[in-house]
Amino acid sequence: MPNTISTDICIVGAGPVGLFAVFEAGLLKLRCHVVDALPQPGGQLSEIYPKKPIYDIPGFPEILAGDLVDNLMKQIEPFHPTFTLGERVERFAKLDDGSFQLYTTDGTEIHCKAVAIAGGLGSFEPRKPAVENLEQFEGGKGVHYMVRDPEYFRDQKIVIAGGGDSALDWTNFLANVAADVTLVHRGTTFRAPPTRPRK
Ligand SMILES: Cc1cc2nc3c(=O)[nH]c(=O)nc-3n(C[C@H](O)[C@H](O)[C@H](O)COP(=O)(O)OP(=O)(O)OC[C@H]3O[C@@H](n4cnc5c(N)ncnc54)[C@H](O)[C@@H]3O)c2cc1C
Repeated sequence: MPNTISTDICIVGAGPVGLFAVFEAGLLKLRCHVVDALPQPGGQLSEIYPKKPIYDIPGFPEILAGDLVDNLMKQIEPFHPTFTLGERVERFAKLDDGSFQLYTTDGTEIHCKAVAIAGGLGSFEPRKPAVENLEQFEGGKGVHYMVRDPEYFRDQKIVIAGGGDSALDWTNFLANVAADVTLVHRGTTFRAPPTRPRK
């Protein structure tokens, strides 16, 4: 028998957008069930950069991404959302009465009156450069695709490859943590906001 859940709104994606949708729906007294392929809520913030400070959230001059997710979870607590984590929604069907049935990779079925897709960039994975033998250095052996905890790089010599938000954010941040940081970018211009607040 599949695990079947019944709710008002099924939200696909437990990133910040999905979590805040629970709050807005809660104000309208609608029950939400949230599904995410990742094992924890928070989307990119929890999975890729939980210890990175964020500067562009209204009302917070600076907040760590992981703390923002904790706050969002606290904010939606009064509405008692339910979660299916670690399962990807792979298809859904509209039923004759206008309601929806969603199916996950692990056999969970969710019946709901409305679906909100807050899937961000989708179930994400790193875009790896075409470098020979790269896999030999993955898994904690020198090559990383995300910075989950900046302390891991304390006093190390590191090279960051990239020219977007992420590369520049981490270069600035890790300059105060690592022994030495070199930024390598294949282009001649950077793709990132021109300024970040400074203390
Ligand atoms: C390194 C880095 C630094 C950043 N820094 C900042 C910053 O300082 N300030 C800022 O404003 N933004 C920043 N961003 C961007 C910010 O993280 C995104 O804008 C934000 O995460 C988008 O939120 P979201 O809820 O739309 O999507 P996401 O956070 O991408 O969450 C979407 C969720 O949906 C899930 N999902 C997708 N498809 C399915 C499916 N079929 N079934 C189940 N689950 C599914 C995914 O697993 C994911 O957890 C940064 C991004 C990165 C990568």
